[in-house]
Amino acid sequence: MSEREGRDGLEQPWMQLVATARRMVDDGLVVGTSGNVSARVGHLILVTPSGIPYDRIGLQDIVAVDLDGKQVVGELRPSSELPMHLAVYLRTDARAVVHTHAVHATAVSTLLYELPAIHYMAAALGGKIRVADYATYGSEELAANVLHALRERTGCLIRNHGTIVYGDDLDQAYERTAQLEWMCQVWLAARSVDGFSPSLLSKRELARVAEKLRDYGPHN
Ligand code: 13P
Ligand code: ZN
Repeated sequence: MSEREGRDGLEQPWMQLVATARRMVDDGLVVGTSGNVSARVGHLILVTPSGIPYDRIGLQDIVAVDLDGKQVVGELRPSSELPMHLAVYLRTDARAVVHTHAVHATAVSTLLYELPAIHYMAAALGGKIRVADYATYGSEELAANVLHALRERTGCLIRNHGTIVYGDDLDQAYERTAQLEWMCQVWLAARSVDGFSPSLLSKRELARVAEKLRDYGPHN
């Protein structure tokens, strides 16, 4: 298969992936080239290149790997967090993965083992959000720690590092990431009021909300 044929059908999903990566910067979820985004297209994984500012990535910069991590399209080096992204695709039904260094989420990752159930939107990610154990960025160990924290969840915090969230598509993975960051901000705001501690939701209530969210949205 030529390089040209290899790119067929990837251009539109690639530009959507690049738009998502740029949005992370615009919304303040990452600074500079931090974070990374990937999406599954058939048997291929599109992934942001390592260490390139997102506003400089164009159509010619497509990076695609197979599920073994072998590069099939492009010359730019895939994200250093490819092991973490691949682990998620191999072990879950993820179609898109977003990794950020969002400020409040990263702060919370240094303080707790689990984000307390401060808001019902935790149910949108499967329940109380765990914090994956720290390991060096890009390592197989980090990939394993993240998978462990993602059990029955579509997102987690990564200790002293950030967030990783997956979804059925890029918009869903991004939206869940933004909700996670927002919940961490709410937690930090609520716990910083002297003499008070935040009220929390029960596991049962989160399960009820998870059921109700299945039907959330504008449809009749
Ligand atoms: P990459 O630029 O290699 O994707 O790394 C950014 C990052 O967030 C590493 O954890
Ligand atoms: Zn990172």
